[in-house]
Amino acid sequence: MALNHDQSASPHVDPGYHLMELPTKVLIGEGVISMLGDFVKDSAGGGRVVVASGSNVASKVRRAVETALSQEPIWVEVAAADIVNVDRVMGAAGSTTCIIGVGGGKSVDVGKLAAFKLHIPFYSVPTSASHDGISSPFASLRGLDRPYSIMAKPPVGILADIDVIASAPRRLLASGCGDLVSKLTAVKDWELAHRVTGEYYGGYSASLALMSANTVLDRSRILGSFDKESVRELVEGLISTGVAAGIAGSSRPCSGSEHLFSHYLDVLAPESGLHGEKCGIGTIMMAKLHRIDWRRVRSALKNVGAPVEASEIGVGDSMVIEALTKASTIRPDRYTILSKRKLTRESAALLAKSTGVI
Ligand code: ZN
Repeated sequence: MALNHDQSASPHVDPGYHLMELPTKVLIGEGVISMLGDFVKDSAGGGRVVVASGSNVASKVRRAVETALSQEPIWVEVAAADIVNVDRVMGAAGSTTCIIGVGGGKSVDVGKLAAFKLHIPFYSVPTSASHDGISSPFASLRGLDRPYSIMAKPPVGILADIDVIASAPRRLLASGCGDLVSKLTAVKDWELAHRVTGEYYGGYSASLALMSANTVLDRSRILGSFDKESVRELVEGLISTGVAAGIAGSSRPCSGSEHLFSHYLDVLAPESGLHGEKCGIGTIMMAKLHRIDWRRVRSALKNVGAPVEASEIGVGDSMVIEALTKASTIRPDRYTILSKRKLTRESAALLAKSTGVI
């Protein structure tokens, strides 16, 4: 029997089994970047490794990374999260034994997919906490045939230095809160799909993802201070949701209608807003469709300083309406509340207006 990596490829048929792939180890705390050499030793031995990183990141932590590793690494600057950069990282990796992705989003996504294709271990070293790709088995890349994340493998190890992450711009951290709170509607969509289509539903991984969403809902004022303690809580929440996806064997507990809305905006307005910001705004509206407390989602996002109105991220009313009416078409295999409700332009406008998004 061949194991299908992406169980979501045929989600309406529950084969009765699925594969769980999880990170092996996580090192989290202040100043832990100095331990990077020991952390990757199992895979790297004493040899050279490839470090995929963004340009800002390279200047921010380059010295710390080089000091921590026993041999100078091969640096590959990742300019965009696309297949060209994946090929560049793969080319540089040559005969090395592992890839380390150091950065916010792009370098982790690119490094993760390059390592997956080369069948070598990947280590994630996030320098911000703007989405759950830091721990999940998924990579989000542009220029593929579909505008949503593809299944790879989770990082073998995640090293999260709270000193480094807490110094990231607050906007990135607030975006991370948006990606966390989105699990609320993602799980609702998953439950709905299970009822309607018979798709596999995992109560345990759903609960785990919901726990992270509730961290934002219950503790938004504390989290929004983004002091080191709350940044640690945010990072642990994001790691945990990535693990929830690993346990589910699909992105279901982490990505529902609010993510489809966000992905549609990625296509309409690629430069507007961060992933977690768009998902947060989507969650407000999808919560209303699911008849759960959307006002609580909105005020939690406000408390952490995340946008709640489309205009705050430079997205116009007509784009919101188009995304609401068409988001379900970009991934027809993923049954969500948008498949059930099939919004018209009028009902979409009403939804967006009544929740204050437009
Ligand atoms: Zn996400």
